[in-house]
Amino acid sequence: MKIVDVRTHLLEHRLETAFESASMRFDKRLHLLVEIECDNGITGWGECLGPALPNAAIVGIYKQWLIGQDPLQTEKVWATLYNALRDQGQRGLTITAISGIDVALWDIKGKHFGVPVSILLGGRFRETVRAYATGSFKRDGVDRLADNAADVARYRAEGFHATKIKIGFGVEEDLRVIQAVREVAGENMRLMIDANHGYDAMEAVELGRRAVEYGIDWFEEPVAPEQLGAYRAVRAGQPIPIAAGETWHTRWGMREPIETRCVDIVQPDICGCGGFTEARRIADLAALHGVRLIPHVWGTAVQIAAALQFMGAMVPNPVRTAPLDPILEFDRTDNPFRQAVVTTPLEHQRGVVAIPAGPGLGIEINRDALKEFAPKAG
Ligand code: CA
Repeated sequence: MKIVDVRTHLLEHRLETAFESASMRFDKRLHLLVEIECDNGITGWGECLGPALPNAAIVGIYKQWLIGQDPLQTEKVWATLYNALRDQGQRGLTITAISGIDVALWDIKGKHFGVPVSILLGGRFRETVRAYATGSFKRDGVDRLADNAADVARYRAEGFHATKIKIGFGVEEDLRVIQAVREVAGENMRLMIDANHGYDAMEAVELGRRAVEYGIDWFEEPVAPEQLGAYRAVRAGQPIPIAAGETWHTRWGMREPIETRCVDIVQPDICGCGGFTEARRIADLAALHGVRLIPHVWGTAVQIAAALQFMGAMVPNPVRTAPLDPILEFDRTDNPFRQAVVTTPLEHQRGVVAIPAGPGLGIEINRDALKEFAPKAG
């Protein structure tokens, strides 16, 4: 089997109401799928986390080293691509682009052998995962406190056991939002906070010390991802467990944060950290050091499927009678193509999502949706 073509598909939707995290503004959704076609007709799909246009350009550059390659030899292809741009490309978009390609190759491998990627990765430890609702951004033109509280009330009514809200807009305002959200969430719903690196270390320590009384499961990206010393200071200086990793790439990028315990929970994105090939190495590294791993997800059903396949195969750590299962990040913000790109949406039932059992990623792409959400000229 040989790779004969590599195509990228941009998906775009202009939002009626723009929203913000502490570090990024969204007035549209723009995501990138990768399609790899083989000479026997098998086609694999992947997705790249992050800015879609640069990712598309870099996938286009990698294409020259993909045509004619055997897609089953995923380690060999990964090494070839990584080494091609290694000297100037050890982190960032070079790796998010490889990630989309690698996910597509594993999809091909699964389709070739007629098994889901989770089986290729070693086996399915679970058939479902509990999802947590990600939402509660700062939306234009609405009262953030009331809007976030209404979001969380809805997630609770839909059956989600946990939710994650956005902070990083200022310690006092954030604390008021956290308090309001905890009131509507009730005592039992798990609550996480994500600052999208909007604080400095002193602010993050203050926020963590004062927010702990509201029962916070984890405090995500308190400070800038490059500031590993600040991560250690925040983790030592306040009581809430620290999570991060969606912008750390490859085993080399994950090594120091894990080995020096910058975080309690590491969050590689399968479509960003280097694909399945690299994510399994990161999982080994995390297990070696006793750091919990919960994948980051921010994309379409292709990326959700990749995360589900990976999570299906995550070895319980520790092994015990009542295992500690990973939970799925489930984006609830406005994105009409998120599930439209697949023929069978990966939806939740009372906050639980099934891990697809079909070959590869276990999804089928709806090409009509790719056309419908392709960027329009002008
Ligand atoms: Ca995040």
